[in-house]
Amino acid sequence: MYNETFLRRAIEISAQALETSGTEPFGAVIVKDGQIVGEGINRSKMNHDPTSHGETEAIRDACRHLETVDLRGCELYSSCGPCALCVAAMNIAGITALYYAADMAQAGDAIADLPEAARFPVDVERLTHECGHAVAERFMPSEQHLDAEATKILKDWAGHARSQV
Ligand SMILES: [Zn+2]
Repeated sequence: MYNETFLRRAIEISAQALETSGTEPFGAVIVKDGQIVGEGINRSKMNHDPTSHGETEAIRDACRHLETVDLRGCELYSSCGPCALCVAAMNIAGITALYYAADMAQAGDAIADLPEAARFPVDVERLTHECGHAVAERFMPSEQHLDAEATKILKDWAGHARSQV
């Protein structure tokens, strides 16, 4: 259930980018049972990590804190609508609900006059296309090779995992 306190916290985290170099103004918090269990800000430049978005950092923080990879029952509050990377991470983790402040169009407008060198290099529309289409329909060329070798390891691992249950 929406709670403005948590969205204000996500926005407050995003504002830390005004004072902390290497961060960008995208903040997020994860909430479970009315408590914040994880927080994150975009640290892509600081960490040399293009996947260090506010949402992914908050998910990592919550998972470490709760010692799990299962965030079902958790809600994510973000200062900005999540990109496809973060939507994927949220779904992999099992996040139950999303509350956000600025949307993608508002974020795009806010940074529209930044010089190219100062922008975070995410082509949001291309990213959404790539994530929403089957391999053969994506812009990025890809080829499949050695599937039998890789599949054998998966089967061996599954057999081992079954024997551990
Ligand atoms: Zn993202």
